[in-house]
Amino acid sequence: MRVRIFDTTLRDGEQSPGVSLAPEQKLTIAKKLDELGVDAIEAGFPLVSDGERKAIKMIISENLSAEICGLARANKKDIDAAIDVGLKYIHTFIATSDIHLQYKLKLSRDEVLAKAIEAVEYGKSRGLQVEFSAEDATRSDREFLKKVFGEVAKAGADRIDIPDTVGYSTPQYMAEITKDAVEVTKLPVSVHCHNDFGLAVANAISGIQAGAQCAHVTINGIGERAGNASLEEFVMSLQCLQFSEKYETGIKTELLYDTSRFVSKLVGMTVQPNKAIVGENAFGHESGIHTHGVLSNPLTYEPISPELVGRSRWLQVGKHAGIHGMNAMLEEYGLRPDKEQANQILDKVKNLGDQGKHVTEVELLTIASEVMKERGIKRIVQLTGFSVSTGIGTMPYAFVKLNIDGKEFSATDHGVGPVDASLNAIQKITGKISEVRIKDYGLASISGGSDALCEVTIKVEDAQGNIASAKSVGEDIVTTSVQAVIDGLNRIMLKKLLKEKKVGN
Ligand code: MN
Repeated sequence: MRVRIFDTTLRDGEQSPGVSLAPEQKLTIAKKLDELGVDAIEAGFPLVSDGERKAIKMIISENLSAEICGLARANKKDIDAAIDVGLKYIHTFIATSDIHLQYKLKLSRDEVLAKAIEAVEYGKSRGLQVEFSAEDATRSDREFLKKVFGEVAKAGADRIDIPDTVGYSTPQYMAEITKDAVEVTKLPVSVHCHNDFGLAVANAISGIQAGAQCAHVTINGIGERAGNASLEEFVMSLQCLQFSEKYETGIKTELLYDTSRFVSKLVGMTVQPNKAIVGENAFGHESGIHTHGVLSNPLTYEPISPELVGRSRWLQVGKHAGIHGMNAMLEEYGLRPDKEQANQILDKVKNLGDQGKHVTEVELLTIASEVMKERGIKRIVQLTGFSVSTGIGTMPYAFVKLNIDGKEFSATDHGVGPVDASLNAIQKITGKISEVRIKDYGLASISGGSDALCEVTIKVEDAQGNIASAKSVGEDIVTTSVQAVIDGLNRIMLKKLLKEKKVGN
C-alpha cells in the first residue's frame, strides 16, 4: 500500500516552543521537503501573522509537486484567511474531547458538531479540499467522535484526520479508533500523533495497519511539547520492518539525513545523539565486539545500511574499543601497525578512555604516529595568520592566512558571528583547493564562568564523501574553533594523501 506523507514541519513543527521562522526560511524548508518527496506540506496557519501569510503565499507560488495545505479553525474567519492567501486545501479542526469543550471552547457537544459541519460545508462551498481533524480525538468520547466523523463526511469532507493531540493514545487504541473512522466515513483517514510518551511513531504505524492511508509527521519529530511522529522514523519503519502488507512512500530516503540537518540548523533545535535514523550515533560504533562484528558484516549490528538514509558508518575508539575496529580506522589512513604496536596503541587509547576522555581520530592518529614512529603524518594545512573583528553595528569579519603544502593562501569573509566569519574565510580557501566543507560544528562549555573552557567538535567532508572529525579545547571560542577546523582539514587531506599513496603503490 502506498502511504501518504503529510509533512507538518512548517506548522506543528514550527509551533515547537521557541521556534519561529521567517518567510524565506519557511520557503527553503518547503523546497527541501518537496525534494524529499513528501505528498503534502502543511505550510502554516494563515491567521497567525502577516509573515505566516507571506510565507504560505511564497510557498504556493513555487508550484511544488507536493500539495500545499494550511491550518484553519472551524470558523469562517480562519477559512477565509486561508482562501485569501491562495490555499486550495485546508486542514480544519475543532476539539471533540469533553475537557476541551468544557474548559477551552465552552461549547456543548451539539454546538461543536454544528460548527464542524458548518466549517466543512463552508470550505467545500468555496471549492477547497477539506481535511477535518477532531482535535484531542483520542481523549474524546468514542461514540461522539464517531458521530462527528460521520457527520462531517456527510457534509462533504475529503479527508479525516485523527489527532492524538496530547500523545495519550496507545497503539492498540489508535488502531481501534482508526477502524471506527474508516468504517463510518469511508474516506481516506490520516493520523496525527504526538510523542508525549514516546509512542508517536508506534501509534502512527498502528493507525496505518488499521486502515489509515496517511500520517502527519515532522522532520526530526519536532512539534508542540515532545513533538510529533518523526518523518524519518515513520518512513524507515514502514519500509524496513516486517508487516503482513508491503508499505511504500514517495520519500527519497537517501535525502533524509541531509534534510534532518538542514531543518535542525534552521529551526535551531539540535537532534539528540541517540535519536533513531538521524541521530549522530545511529550508525556509530565503539565497542570492540560491535566494531568487530560490523567490520566482518555490517548487518550484525546495523539493522539497515546507513547509505539508505544518506549517511555513512563511523567507528570510534575509546575504552570499549577493540583491536579490529582500531586497526580498521588506522587502515583508512594507510597505517598498518604490527601486533605489538597495535596493542600499545590500544592500551594508550583505553587509558585515555578510562580517564573519561573522548578520543577523536586526531588523537588516535597522534598516538599511532608516536608508537609507530611514523613520519608520514604531518600537518598539511597550517594557520599562518588570523584576525577577526566583531561587535554591535558592525558585520563580523575575519581574515585567514593558510599555508597548504607549502603554498600561502589568504581570504577574508563575513559571517553571523566571529566563528562563522572565520570558518567562512577558511572554507573560501579550502573549497577552492580540495572542495572540503565543514559538515558539522558543535560548541560546548566545559566549566562555568566567563573564563570557561570551551570544547569545539567539528566534522569536515570532502567531495568524495570522506569525513574527518576533530576536537579542540581552549579558552577562546574563536581560535579554538579555528584550530578544530584546521585539525579536521589536516586529517581529511592526510587521509586523501595516504589513500593516493596506497593506490600509487
Ligand atoms: Mn499537533
